[in-house]
Amino acid sequence: LPQRSLTVPWSRQLSTPIRRVTVAARQIADGNLKERVTEKSTTTEIVELTDTVNSMADSLEKQEALRKRLTADVAHELRTPLATLQSHIEAILDGVWEMDADRLKLCHEETVRLAKIVKSLEELTKYDQESTQLNIKSTNLNGLLGKVAKTFEAEFLRKGVDLTLDLPAKLTHLPLDEDKMTQALNNLVSNGLKFTPEGGTVNLSMEETEKEVCITVADTGVGISEEDLPHIFERFFRADVSRNKKTGGSGIGLAIVKSIVEAHGGRVEVQSHRDYGSVFKVYLPK
Ligand code: ADP
Repeated sequence: LPQRSLTVPWSRQLSTPIRRVTVAARQIADGNLKERVTEKSTTTEIVELTDTVNSMADSLEKQEALRKRLTADVAHELRTPLATLQSHIEAILDGVWEMDADRLKLCHEETVRLAKIVKSLEELTKYDQESTQLNIKSTNLNGLLGKVAKTFEAEFLRKGVDLTLDLPAKLTHLPLDEDKMTQALNNLVSNGLKFTPEGGTVNLSMEETEKEVCITVADTGVGISEEDLPHIFERFFRADVSRNKKTGGSGIGLAIVKSIVEAHGGRVEVQSHRDYGSVFKVYLPK
């Protein structure tokens, strides 16, 4: 009997923090993602368990916020073309409008816009950081940048914008997923072209420091306002939507750039002034 009275408090002391962690974990599992374990323990295992449960909750909460935002963004993007299509078709059905080639063309444009949104979503899934499986190989960056420039040569010529390439004489090799990095740089150069009027220049260059390689895409285009700058990497963000309607972007390009570069352990920085142009810098660790 004396033995029993000794073991009961001991086992209770041990099981109580675990029980508290379990209760909190169950709350989190039930979708209460703000719940955290506040257990202060000196036992290493309990501290580790608490930290693990809390960081799992952090990551679930982040995912949940992303999911909500993406759903809201997609709904917002789909609403306008769908509403336009619906009202046009209803006007035709009600006999308010005659169905002629012009009106059909208007409807067709909206379906093209819808298809573009779906395509962007597919691309986003493909390049989303969480699912970015990198196929890393040692890559000659000078060659990669040269290829990117070559891809755009004709388009630049057609628009009357100069594309210049400044590469160091020494070849730089980095472990990269060549396809994905090409995609990221294509997006930046394509934006440079899109937002630079005739007579302007887009410069693609590379510099190497001790720890990093920095790839710069600089344009003399329309620039980005201070107010829009913090948002340009967000999915579906387009500054000055009316102006951008003409350029036909869906606001996914830079989100993809960010995903790809971050999956490589790098970062993207931007500097821009309205009417003076924009400079995008991709830093990749060596
Ligand atoms: P989009 O498909 O619209 O180009 P992005 O994600 O690539 O989408 O870019 C988001 C927005 O950021 C663009 O719509 C544009 O407003 C702005 N932007 C991106 N790159 C540039 C640039 N080089 N010059 C000016 N604005 C830019």
